[in-house]
Amino acid sequence: MALIVQKYGGTSVGSIELIHKVAARVARVRERGDRVVVAVSAMGDATDRLVDLARSLCPAPDPRELDALLATGEQVSIALLAMALTARGVPARSFTGAQVRIRTTSAHGRARIEAVETAMLTAALDAGIVPVVAGFQGVDAEGAITTIGRGGSDTTAVALAVALRADECQILTDVDGVYTTDPRMVRGARRLERLSFEEMLELAGQGSRVLHLRAVEFAAKYGLALRVLASHGDGPGTLIDREDPTVEAPVVSGIAFNRDEAQIVISGVPNAPDTAHRLLWPVSDAGIEIDMIVLAPNEDGTADFAFTVHRGDYVQALELARRGAAYCPAARVDGTDRVAKMSIVGVGMRSHAGVAARLFATLASAGITVRLVSTSEIRISVLLAEAELERAVHETHDAFSLSGQSGFI
Ligand code: ADP
Ligand code: ASP
Ligand code: MG
Repeated sequence: MALIVQKYGGTSVGSIELIHKVAARVARVRERGDRVVVAVSAMGDATDRLVDLARSLCPAPDPRELDALLATGEQVSIALLAMALTARGVPARSFTGAQVRIRTTSAHGRARIEAVETAMLTAALDAGIVPVVAGFQGVDAEGAITTIGRGGSDTTAVALAVALRADECQILTDVDGVYTTDPRMVRGARRLERLSFEEMLELAGQGSRVLHLRAVEFAAKYGLALRVLASHGDGPGTLIDREDPTVEAPVVSGIAFNRDEAQIVISGVPNAPDTAHRLLWPVSDAGIEIDMIVLAPNEDGTADFAFTVHRGDYVQALELARRGAAYCPAARVDGTDRVAKMSIVGVGMRSHAGVAARLFATLASAGITVRLVSTSEIRISVLLAEAELERAVHETHDAFSLSGQSGFI
């Protein structure tokens, strides 16, 4: 008898009809003779509506109270799903994060899960009851309700699966697996049978929202295989697991993109050892996360410096960069928040030369200017004008033959 953790996303439980369908699917796992723990998100766009409600009251709500409010979204869906299961004759019980005792740090809105107590869940399972656990939330040492970041229910499911030593963790969503890129943008995108943790980490980290980044980090750390499946439909989905050394890896497995970008360019600063430090220090001291960075020396002893931040931090970062550059009267500080980042990811890149050249050739022939580049061993990211992102993703998807059988070149 296997123990399966299933996580259903917001769209999958977006109406009473869909909740009934989810209940039927959970019941099927039990009929096969397996035990199941369910983690669930808030219905549809309930979390967005709660955020709007708080912001309509005050632009910067108290983080503790905002978490108390946002956690109610999941409390609705767990209770409804437990009712739907019970109505089908499947004994079920809802649990909030605090009831399970999913213990987190106190960083409201981005708390990290520190421990998951399993006593309540195993007692329910032993009594033949299906635990239905609220995703996205936990409780801190003071007993305050916390949330773990938007999209965080995936991470709740993985944490439950790890703590319960589950045999399988299934992420059920509104697509039938992980695709070569977001199938909402590229209709010819192809479902991947399998992806390594490393590739999924890069894709999730670079904006592919199909899985929460921390869920993949957690799964990779504990070697827990994940399967992404359609909530309402059949099919094998995508397995995310350790790299399979017996199979040759495609050079490019997938493309992620992120519109949450802004770029700041400081030109004409002296090319000195402390330049980067002087310019960046005020920005990072304000707690603003910096992503891509380039320092390009000019022949006249000056340098041009560019970096990116989250779009929401743009105005503040621009002001801080101006302050940082004030020591140099000749410096010019400019920026734009109309940029986006596209990333190509594949473990096969490690052993293949020419991937960057092919990417740049593709973008050049499409007349698309690359503003910044960053790389890892298995990823190349480029910053582009946002207006050109969609075309860049389509052209790159074609250039690496991602619609066909594989991303081999
Ligand atoms: P859930 O509410 O179930 O957590 P999300 O909206 O968070 O679902 O994630 C699923 C969405 O992720 C899909 O509808 C799809 O548009 C998007 N997505 C982005 N990149 C990919 C990708 N590479 N493969 C599949 N889906 C992707
Ligand atoms: N309901 C939360 C959100 O919308 C968590 C999740 O969906 O995973 O971000
Ligand atoms: Mg999600």
